[in-house]
Amino acid sequence: MNVALVDVDGHGFPNLALMRLAAWHKQQGDAVEWYSPLFSRPDRLFASKVFTFTPDCQDFAANAPTPIRGGTGYDPTVTLPDEVEQTLPDYSIYPDFTPALGFLTRGCIRSCPWCIVPRKEGNIRIADDIERIYAGRREVVLLDNNFLAAPEAFVEEQLAKAKRLKLRLDFNQALDARLVNGRNASLLANARWIRYIRFSCDNPSILDPVRNAIREIRAAGYHGEFFVYVLAKELWEAHDRICRLTDIDPKIVPFCQPFRDFTSGGEPPVELRRLARWCNIQSIRKTVPFRKYQSNFLNNEKESNQ
Ligand code: SF4
Repeated sequence: MNVALVDVDGHGFPNLALMRLAAWHKQQGDAVEWYSPLFSRPDRLFASKVFTFTPDCQDFAANAPTPIRGGTGYDPTVTLPDEVEQTLPDYSIYPDFTPALGFLTRGCIRSCPWCIVPRKEGNIRIADDIERIYAGRREVVLLDNNFLAAPEAFVEEQLAKAKRLKLRLDFNQALDARLVNGRNASLLANARWIRYIRFSCDNPSILDPVRNAIREIRAAGYHGEFFVYVLAKELWEAHDRICRLTDIDPKIVPFCQPFRDFTSGGEPPVELRRLARWCNIQSIRKTVPFRKYQSNFLNNEKESNQ
């Protein structure tokens, strides 16, 4: 059978579901390729997207089979069959991506109202083992939504295995600062990181837990950087949170994400997108106060309206 794949989000970050599908179909003896409307003649066509705001792909040949669509961007309730979910990804379809990729856990213990994870995946559960995921690679990107919420023994075991295997890690969906304690802080401080330890600070109530987590991890000997996601819904509150975060530690890199209403799919307001641009380009944030940055835009807009 010929199988063709469409990564609707583009190829910026690998689509793990497509990688698993590619690997599983190859194991069944099928030919797998990226879909080309001009050249592909697939028997089965998979289209996947992670982001709801990515426009759907319509670029299919008239004689192409109806695409099987999946991924959070289409429908969070659609999941891969168990045997595909258990298949190690096919890294060859994203040759420029060098780390291993996977989930140690799925789900989350919390139910933040803006987040689809609890609805999609339910409560936290163990999903895999770092010794299986790393696949001989030196770096591992983990997509867990709340790794520290897993049973303490599992957290300790996985971090100890990663250390023994000399793996560099990145929990790129962030760790939950409220779950850092003296015991796991020491493991986190002594782990190898691809670049950052990541936390999220989605509202002002998380500032103190982030401050405490960073203090604990620093006290345990970590000298590297922290990357902190900042969900922004209200302009000046989010701005204040970014400033208070960067006051905690000189090696905090805040990353502002304007809130998107996934039900409406609309763009976030322009002032939040402006705040994100100011925050996320470090050279701007460190040299120009946001009020000044913002007033330049407002003055330009006034002039162009005159
Ligand atoms: S802690 Fe993170 S993953 Fe869990 S529900 Fe909240 S936003 Fe979602």
